Amino acid sequence: SVPFGLDFGNSTSVIGVARNRGIDVIVNEVSNRSTPSLVAFGNKNRFIGETAKSQEISNIKNTVGSLKRIIGTAFGSAEMEVEKKFANTPLINVDGQVGVKVKYLGEQTEFSATQLVAMYLNKIKSTTMTEVKGNVSDIVIAVPAWYSDVQRRAMADAAVIAGLNPVRIVNDTTAAAVGYGVFKTDLPEDKPKVVAFVDVGHSTYTVSIGSFKKGELKILGTATDKNFGGRDFDYAITEHFANIFNDKYKIDIRTNAKAYSRVLAAAEKLKKVLSANTVAPINIESVMEDVDVSSSMKREELEEYVQPLLNRLHVPIEAALKSAGITAAELDTVEVIGGSSRIPSIKDKLAEIFDKPLSFTLNQDEAIARGAAFICAIHSPTLRVRPFKFEDINLHSVTYKWDAIADEDISELEVFPKNGFFPSTKIITLFRSEDFELEAQYTTLEGLPEGTKSFVGRWAVKGVKPLDNGEPIACKLKLRNDPSGFYTIEEAYTSEEVEFQEPIEDNSETKEGEEKEIQYRTVKKWVKRDDLTLVNTHNGLEESILTSYTEKEAQMTVEDKLVKDTEDRKNALEEYIYEIRAKIEEEYSSFASEAEKERLSTMLMNAEDWLYDAGEDASKAQYIAKTEELQSLGNLIRGRYLSKVEEERQAKLAKHEA
Ligand code: ATP
Ligand code: MG
Repeated sequence: SVPFGLDFGNSTSVIGVARNRGIDVIVNEVSNRSTPSLVAFGNKNRFIGETAKSQEISNIKNTVGSLKRIIGTAFGSAEMEVEKKFANTPLINVDGQVGVKVKYLGEQTEFSATQLVAMYLNKIKSTTMTEVKGNVSDIVIAVPAWYSDVQRRAMADAAVIAGLNPVRIVNDTTAAAVGYGVFKTDLPEDKPKVVAFVDVGHSTYTVSIGSFKKGELKILGTATDKNFGGRDFDYAITEHFANIFNDKYKIDIRTNAKAYSRVLAAAEKLKKVLSANTVAPINIESVMEDVDVSSSMKREELEEYVQPLLNRLHVPIEAALKSAGITAAELDTVEVIGGSSRIPSIKDKLAEIFDKPLSFTLNQDEAIARGAAFICAIHSPTLRVRPFKFEDINLHSVTYKWDAIADEDISELEVFPKNGFFPSTKIITLFRSEDFELEAQYTTLEGLPEGTKSFVGRWAVKGVKPLDNGEPIACKLKLRNDPSGFYTIEEAYTSEEVEFQEPIEDNSETKEGEEKEIQYRTVKKWVKRDDLTLVNTHNGLEESILTSYTEKEAQMTVEDKLVKDTEDRKNALEEYIYEIRAKIEEEYSSFASEAEKERLSTMLMNAEDWLYDAGEDASKAQYIAKTEELQSLGNLIRGRYLSKVEEERQAKLAKHEA
């Protein structure tokens, strides 16, 4: 299978694949290089990606966006309140996390956000398979650096539900930095090159500081503003026009979801125009109550409305630099990506804060997907890629805890601290006589999305037997902060100190005929005794739920496919009617008797009537049957025509050869 990477964006997602000895960004079914991150529900089927976008306004209540924001988000949290501002579907509680309620197949149906993301990933998978003309399984998904363990686990679960193998969850700016490092040919061997990566997207804003040497990258600092992006600009513009339209036309778009989302879409367009022009119009026909609205906005006005946002731009920059322990002056360059970095006021402000010209050598929209695809290729056993090492930085600290026994004076250890690098492994030793438990928790919840619980994982360690003398045995635990940022225990075993007799080297001269006696000394060595069994509970879905979601997803996919096939068959029937009707008048005309023509024309008329009446909503089999019925006569006539054509061709050939 072809390794691929996904930049799962809040507005659109980009797919990169590793092929042809490089990385390609692929196009979707309508030849776009990015796919709307939307999932929608209808009476017969789901709409995902482009099809969801094209029915968005007409089916606003059953179209779900902000997928990356709601996945793994605590129900009732401040984060959910932010999403409510942008959501048109009711957000509901699914096992303590945000889910949605939509009308699907004519019924109110509830889905968890993990399921919604799985639907989307399944679509991404099929887009990729179509493009690469083969199977895909291994995926690297880029997520915001601020994602909690719950969110990362949920993303990995969603991939599994979609039938994918999430080989790695990677922070998005880290993926971009990897892409930068891999394809940059002039990286230094000695003194590192230090680069700031700035991504201003649709919903989130991230700054990462990367230190590069030839073939390697270390992320020195990352900081984010979780709620800063293009959608906040769109919202500010829309709110402004909501007031204007209230005054000018006496309509309140805030009371009408469809009207509001039309203005929001127009606001986004206007915002983009303002990136290249100093003034832009807004015109919407019959936005609500049959009222046409029109107005305009100047670039300075926009800047004024978003001033509170712009005033926050410096915060993550300063935080990232601080954690990297450098000043802006020490940066070799500032690489800017993300759609919203096209906004002039953002560009200007960034350049001012860094006090440096900005660099745009990366593809703004595709850098993350490319990096993710490359990382997936690194993990592929079959591909050989340019060697590139990279380490990421932890934004949160994790402590492992246990119940202290007897004279143990500590019962917890901050194993993976904030600003520590990962992947990383640490071995700890606990002396135990019987089975015990360990729990990993966030040391503090500061900086995590609101509503995040401290729980990260629990392990029951089984199979512990004391030493022969009854004393507790040393249990070695290999704790790992893995490449996806997950906290695991990779291995657990008991170890005991065993005495060995070791020969002492004797370099003294041996006299003729003298036998030298070998001397031994006693040494103690730690040796592994038994492997211990680990039973892990983590923030991912329980196996049974994962299985049931997977089955449900597969079933919905089959149903969607049936709807699509039925639609295709219906279109094929309709096309056949028009095609044969035209041909019987022209090229087939002399190959059918008047009676046959009469009969065919009646059949076509009946089929057409059926199609627009009883056959409007028929089954796939019925459309096939109807098409075949017409073809029984149509093909007979076509056959005669084709043999005549063939006869003429042969005759021509014979004449030519003669
Ligand atoms: P996120 O990274 O927050 O999850 P995303 O990856 O989908 O979201 P991007 O694709 O980087 O976001 O950027 C999309 C945003 O950029 C949208 O808000 C879009 O309106 C905005 N945008 C794109 N082009 C322009 C432009 N020329 N001027 C202003 N804004 C733009
Ligand atoms: Mg993005």
